[in-house]
Amino acid sequence: MPDSPPEREIPLNLYRHGDPLVVRVRSNRRLTAAASGNDVHHVVVEFPQGAFPFLEGQSAGFAPPGLNARGRPHVPRLYSIACDRSGDDGAGDSLAICVKRVLYRTESGDEAHGRASNMLCDAQPGDTLPMTGPAGREFVLPADPAANLVLIATGTGVAPFRAFAQHRATLPHAGRGQLWLFFGVQTRADALYADEWDAHAAQPATRVTYALSREETTADGRRVYVQDRLREAGQPLLALVRDPRTHVYVCGIKGMEVGVEAAFAALAQDAGLDWQALRQALWIAGRWHVEVY
Ligand code: NAP
Repeated sequence: MPDSPPEREIPLNLYRHGDPLVVRVRSNRRLTAAASGNDVHHVVVEFPQGAFPFLEGQSAGFAPPGLNARGRPHVPRLYSIACDRSGDDGAGDSLAICVKRVLYRTESGDEAHGRASNMLCDAQPGDTLPMTGPAGREFVLPADPAANLVLIATGTGVAPFRAFAQHRATLPHAGRGQLWLFFGVQTRADALYADEWDAHAAQPATRVTYALSREETTADGRRVYVQDRLREAGQPLLALVRDPRTHVYVCGIKGMEVGVEAAFAALAQDAGLDWQALRQALWIAGRWHVEVY
């Protein structure tokens, strides 16, 4: 039976903007390969053991230093926690986040830096940071170990799925649900945690399907996105999604859910089914989870 989040005890907002937990940076490493133009980091912070309980799928907040244009402290930016509830190394005194350095052009053409992402990508071991959270209750991993997980990620949206897969790997194989990750990145050099996904994919009932948008093209010459891979996965995927033990999670770039839904609608149509009705049923059962921003 699928479980619904409100029936579970979910730690929530134990530390807030005005009263954060001060954490220490333990390590900071670049995740993207040298060939990638994207600078994505795995940042680990530590705190007293047990001080920040969380579940897979929750987020932590980090506010950039200084004041905003109105002279007030910046509000925290949320990052999905990229390790399971036991922390980065299993000792319960740390967590990891996955951060892409944000650089952009202003309307006047100047280069600008995302304050929080640059602070985190530049953080050095020993630095202290105020952290808020844990945040979020709708995107958590189902408590039922037999739940099947269809995980659809773009870019750093894969962070919570690393936590899901780590926790699932601690469960006995027998009775454990399936996991199928669809992961969209620009190039192989951008495939975050690729070694770990390879190791998971070697386990039973576990599949990882990439969409490399800048290395692969569709038959009609477009960039390949996760929604193209969903469409290719076909009726076995739709059957998995219709299984009452299956939860679908979509995480990453705002707007990706439109393409994801269109792919499922096409699969449903092929099977003579009404996707809107299926999707509504998933939503009501608490089996359809979206976190995009
Ligand atoms: P990215 O590198 O810009 O893109 C990842 C992949 O998605 C690329 O292959 C990209 O293709 C493709 N893509 C672009 N538009 C798409 C669409 N409409 N549908 C499907 N695929 C599409 O990703 P990113 O910069 O890491 O961004 C990830 C997003 O996740 C951010 O918006 C972030 O805020 C959000 N997020 C982050 C976290 C976290 O903890 N860090 C957690 C949750 C969500 P092309 O670029 O080749 O077009």
